[in-house]
Amino acid sequence: MKPVSKSNRSKSKKPVRALDFGDRWDYAPAPESVRPKIKKQYELFIDGEFVKPHSSKYFNSINPSTEERITRIAHGDKSDINKAVKAAREAYDKTWSRMDPRERGKYLYRIARLIQEKARELAVLETMDGGKPIKESRDVDLPLVAAHFFYHAGWADKLKYAFPRRDPQPLGVCGQIIPWNFPLLMAAWKLAPALACGNTVVLKPAETTSTTAMHLAQILQEADLPPGVVNIVTGEGGTGAALVEHPDINKIAFTGSTEVGKRIAASTAGTEKKLTLELGGKAANIIFEDAPLDQAVEGIIQGIYFNQGHVCCAGSRLFVQEGVYDQILRKLRTRIATLRVGDPLDKNTDVGAINSKEQLKKISSLVQCGVDEGASLEQSSCALPEKGYWFPPSVLTDVTMSHRVAQEEIFGPVLSVMTFRTPEEALQRANNTPYGLSAGVWTDKGSKIFKMAEKLRAGVVWANTYNKFDPTSPFGGYKESGFGREGGKHGLSAYVRL
Ligand code: ADP
Repeated sequence: MKPVSKSNRSKSKKPVRALDFGDRWDYAPAPESVRPKIKKQYELFIDGEFVKPHSSKYFNSINPSTEERITRIAHGDKSDINKAVKAAREAYDKTWSRMDPRERGKYLYRIARLIQEKARELAVLETMDGGKPIKESRDVDLPLVAAHFFYHAGWADKLKYAFPRRDPQPLGVCGQIIPWNFPLLMAAWKLAPALACGNTVVLKPAETTSTTAMHLAQILQEADLPPGVVNIVTGEGGTGAALVEHPDINKIAFTGSTEVGKRIAASTAGTEKKLTLELGGKAANIIFEDAPLDQAVEGIIQGIYFNQGHVCCAGSRLFVQEGVYDQILRKLRTRIATLRVGDPLDKNTDVGAINSKEQLKKISSLVQCGVDEGASLEQSSCALPEKGYWFPPSVLTDVTMSHRVAQEEIFGPVLSVMTFRTPEEALQRANNTPYGLSAGVWTDKGSKIFKMAEKLRAGVVWANTYNKFDPTSPFGGYKESGFGREGGKHGLSAYVRL
């Protein structure tokens, strides 16, 4: 439409008509108001079909922000796992490993595009099922899910360039077990590279967040993925254990707690199964006196509170150089007071619900333990909804390295703040943990960043930013945070025999 110039308007004798476009010009509904179609009950996805579980048992999936039941999820057992592995083996032998890699790539592109088409619906579902704020699932999780499929689709027919002078071959049937903190993203991290390299998969989602995985199964069906290439068996720990112990599995990829990871490592030891583990973390964020302080505080806030601390790489330990300690603490308090906690489907919400009752109990008891050991607790005074599982954004000061809150993963919106004087002291304190997944360095000096990054025992080190992910970039840990990398070329190598 041409703009009406002032001179035209003054010359016109006609009365000015009010602009009334009726309902033709309504805004499209906001993503968070699009309610996804949720089935009353989700079955297992085996050999390209949705099938009832052998046990005929189902368990509830609860919305952690309302405590209402969203749906019922099938409880798969050993016999379902057997069926799924058999289907995956047949698909591997007869179809997927023999397919022209370019064709495999086309399937992955198709899946990526379908995820993009349904991204709004999936983001709402992810938020309802897991409790994370819609702005996280909509703007972070879902774009990354699609990006992982796009990225690996590109590699499908170029594996020999990823591994020059080698002959990369698929491994066979992969068992993949994922946690609840990034349900769809973890599924994408695991499925996309496995499929691109020619493997078939049996995936076991986490018990509290299986709904989006079942919607992903519908997408796989829509994409015409050959039956058996991906099988999704929902259930609890026992279902996962049955998958790990199955004799016809060639590789296990697990993301979850260090405790379960150790059990899986023990159970696969002495077998020919390949194993990658992405386990817990206790990330350190280190702020030097010369850092851009406001930027650092915003990074800290995003790294621990925007995701309820539900990230294994959440920056849950903060080390501040002594000279700026008071300033940082003041800025942190001011910023925390402005955080909005509540309805995760509200696009203005910063901090959502805690994923489950059990998780909330764990967070509360660890924080109480911190207080009992002598730490000082400050919490946001925001009002918490009456129903649902909530924990206010919290800061612990007067923390010493021997406190449990400085050593153990809390997995909640809780930041432990400590100080240091010299870079050496910062390194020594940051590395003083059984974990080694990620770390952050905040400083104006590039040389300091490189020096610290070299010596920090963490798989990922962010500099002057935090929690940034990209499918081209490998992610994974040291020590009790596990081994093997996901993403990038390093991630591909976990799914090929060279
Ligand atoms: P978190 O503490 O993050 O919930 P868990 O390690 O308990 O992590 O769970 C991560 C995933 O591992 C979930 O899908 C869960 O069902 C599965 N799981 C739990 N116990 C076992 C086990 N013994 N063997 C295999 N998988 C398991």
